[in-house]
Amino acid sequence: MHEGSISQNIVEEVKKIAIMNSLSKVYEIVVVCGKLHSVIPESLKFFFDIMKKEEDMLIDANLIIKEEEIIAKCLDCGREFLSEVNFFKCPDCGSVRNEIIKGNHIFISSIKGE
Ligand SMILES: [Zn+2]
Repeated sequence: MHEGSISQNIVEEVKKIAIMNSLSKVYEIVVVCGKLHSVIPESLKFFFDIMKKEEDMLIDANLIIKEEEIIAKCLDCGREFLSEVNFFKCPDCGSVRNEIIKGNHIFISSIKGE
């Protein structure tokens, strides 16, 4: 139910944004999913399309999911590199000490409505 709870959060968040911006209908929602979360886009969309039917303002909304690659930064040599889930090794110095600087968040990047 990973995608189910993410979908629930998106619905709640979009409702807040819509109210703050005086929107009564939302047509498009763009969500960025960092690959670190291993979200399956089809699955997220599946849950969203069920949940939106319960909400008047979201009933016509189309969910667009953009996946974001995981970028890590080596704490030893400073190199930034593209990383896979569960494999964070610096290609330059081989260090496994690093921090994730991209691809570790799920957030709403834009909504369209009226
Ligand atoms: Zn390094």
